[in-house]
Amino acid sequence: MEKLKTIVKGTILENEPMSKHTTYGIGGPAMAYITPKDRFDLAEILKCCEQFEIPVYFVGSGSNLLVADRGINGIVLSPAKSLKQLEIKGNSVTAESGVMLGRLVKECIKRNFTGLESLIGVPGTLGGALVMNAGAFGGEISNYLKSVDIMTMAGQINTYSCNDIDFSYRFSSFKKDEFILLARFELETGDPDIIKNKKLNASSGRKTNQPLKYRSAGSVFKNHKKYAAGYLIDSAGLKGTRIGDAEISKHHANFFINHGNASASDITTLIRIARKAVLEKFDIELELEIKTIGFEKKELEAYG
Ligand SMILES: Cc1cc2nc3c(=O)[nH]c(=O)nc-3n(C[C@H](O)[C@H](O)[C@H](O)COP(=O)(O)OP(=O)(O)OC[C@H]3O[C@@H](n4cnc5c(N)ncnc54)[C@H](O)[C@@H]3O)c2cc1C
Repeated sequence: MEKLKTIVKGTILENEPMSKHTTYGIGGPAMAYITPKDRFDLAEILKCCEQFEIPVYFVGSGSNLLVADRGINGIVLSPAKSLKQLEIKGNSVTAESGVMLGRLVKECIKRNFTGLESLIGVPGTLGGALVMNAGAFGGEISNYLKSVDIMTMAGQINTYSCNDIDFSYRFSSFKKDEFILLARFELETGDPDIIKNKKLNASSGRKTNQPLKYRSAGSVFKNHKKYAAGYLIDSAGLKGTRIGDAEISKHHANFFINHGNASASDITTLIRIARKAVLEKFDIELELEIKTIGFEKKELEAYG
């Protein structure tokens, strides 16, 4: 850690509460939260972590993330405040992983590019969106993707063409130790009225269906192939179940919300309650959509 402190050229926040970096507003301290200055800084930091066996976690803007109250025994690296370049030439868009998805989508809509408009309103960075294969109202971030540059722990940049990466519903095949640097998209020009309608549908659908007034990390579980996770949790009678300041939203049962002072353990208690009830009532094992850091497996299981 001392060595790391001497090489970081960006910002390093030691013993940094992750509650400041997650949309849940939940999470204990990471050993350090680091914003690399640029890709050269990033390469040196990754190499140092590799050499000194410092556990490292990559985070975007924490909008799909639950971090344990006990915190993270390792450092967190995020591009969200520094790797933010966005370049558009013709119909080709190149964006660094710290670009907010909303900005990317708006820049595309402005130019009448079609393909990403249904993602309007999905929080987070482009890096997080790629790892999650973020999607909404029929569109997914991988749909118009051409290629992605990642950096390895050795500080080497590799380019994947879209076909090299497996994408499916809220899944991508990036490895945990690959830091996403940037992505290239090739978009088609569309009819401005159709683009505008798709955007408005997505925005209003989001406002109607999601409890946007409260802190959350979006959908907690992936939808089952036959049933929406929210339907299953609702049918198990769990809407409005509250543990401390955490609640299974009355508005959308797959959103667990933080009323202000919820802890990670309040949320994991709700996760266990939901998993157990849905398993017992429907014989369906709910799979987490949110990513978690710092928990033991049993803390998240139906009978944990
Ligand atoms: C109110 C609300 C509504 C939402 N609605 C939707 C929705 O409609 N559709 C949808 O798909 N999602 C939705 N989400 C979830 C979330 O916004 C997306 O999953 C988003 O793409 C996550 O981006 P992020 O930058 O916050 O990633 P984070 O939550 O920070 O990280 C997510 C994952 O990506 C990895 N990661 C992040 N950046 C990098 C990087 N540069 N390199 C390598 N790995 C990285 C992390 O390790 C983690 O595994 C919603 C969330 C909220 C709070």
